Amino acid sequence: MPHAGGPSFVNYRDLLRAGFDAVVWGEGETTIPQLMEALEGRGEFSDVPNLIWRSGREVRRNPGPPWAPNPPLWRYSPSIKSIKSYPAWWAARVYVEVVRGCSNFYRPTLRLADGRRCVFCDLCRTGPLRTRTYCPVGIPPGCGYCSVPSLFGPPRSRPEEDVVREVRDLIRLGVRRVVLSAPDFLDYGRDRLVAPEPLTDPRHPPPNLRAIESLLRKLTSIQEVVEGEAFIMVENLKPNLVSEEVAEVLARYLEGTPVSLGLESGHPEHHVALGRPSKVEEVLRAVKILRMYGLKPYIYVIHGLPGETNEVVQATVKAVKEAWRLGAEKVTLYRFTPLKGTAFEGFRRPPPAVKSRAKPLYELVKSLNREGKERLVGEVVKAVPAGVREGFMVAYTLPHGPVILVRCGGVCGAANRLVEVRITKALTDRVVEGVLLRVLRPSRQSNNA
Ligand code: SF4
Repeated sequence: MPHAGGPSFVNYRDLLRAGFDAVVWGEGETTIPQLMEALEGRGEFSDVPNLIWRSGREVRRNPGPPWAPNPPLWRYSPSIKSIKSYPAWWAARVYVEVVRGCSNFYRPTLRLADGRRCVFCDLCRTGPLRTRTYCPVGIPPGCGYCSVPSLFGPPRSRPEEDVVREVRDLIRLGVRRVVLSAPDFLDYGRDRLVAPEPLTDPRHPPPNLRAIESLLRKLTSIQEVVEGEAFIMVENLKPNLVSEEVAEVLARYLEGTPVSLGLESGHPEHHVALGRPSKVEEVLRAVKILRMYGLKPYIYVIHGLPGETNEVVQATVKAVKEAWRLGAEKVTLYRFTPLKGTAFEGFRRPPPAVKSRAKPLYELVKSLNREGKERLVGEVVKAVPAGVREGFMVAYTLPHGPVILVRCGGVCGAANRLVEVRITKALTDRVVEGVLLRVLRPSRQSNNA
């Protein structure tokens, strides 16, 4: 049977037409074990939950729970050693899942591509947690451009001991950089505060700092992390959940590491109308607090979103400048893509930023990121070599930062060792040049590279 990877929302009719026999809808943890049994002749396709399949000339769709419950969700752990099949795995950022799903069940209030519009019943914003999965108009949950809440459902936190085991095993194998993967790291353990109800409120209760601190304490006690040979990072935070108390805990374990915040649109009304759980002022406040506590805030912005006008672009330019002034270290500009299963499905993909009204935003982001790289000139950083390109060692800044092209003479092949580099030049808004100062002591895992 031909098979394709996921999970993702797909046009299953296209897949079935292309010759696939069956499509698993949504998360696979409940479905795939039963599908395997059916394939081995120990069950029927018709009994496999969330399976869409061809039965003769007919397409049949089996019902099933929308998201995988736990158990069986966390019964499955990923292979550790398969990381070695990735190129430059020892230098790459390796993602370890700590939370599945997102707590933002707000929905956009903009008119959708098919004409539907929120009728302001307020169910998804103030209703009981369990009812927030339902919208009388059928608008999918979450920010209009994001498929996480509809595809993965509300957050379910992975057991702490499983996360610690996976991170420790990866580091023992030679992985240097681990990112705790979650649509919002601050949802970690927050679901336990409202269980057995689903966590469908992105603002209340506040983060479960007891759970977060316990996890970070154990991870940062791993010997290689203590010795500065491996690094733990988190990625996305909901700006509205950031407080000084939160920043203080994160900084205690993750000081100097990047944390990402979604601004997406800097226009106050447009930002909220997208279904964001935050306000623009909360994003700016979060940047300021995180910076104050020694973390490195990165900002995401999206151009070409439904509802974008010149006024929206101008407001976003202003908000990005303000975030930069408050200490944002990097800005990433994405082009809106209408994803299947999201509220914004059906809208057109916009032209690239340089050919659209968002050009001033594009130019601002490029120049700020370039400025950020120029600020690094003269700094001495630790890096991990990932390979060699045209006589340069390609090294990744630790724990995270620009790619460095290092003039390296005879030690270009120092893969999986740590090096100390002085940054000498900003080459682009993403890449800098540096000189090698020294190769730090060889890693215990260098034979693995
Ligand atoms: S998006 Fe749907 S559930 Fe939310 S307020 Fe509007 S109509 Fe109600």
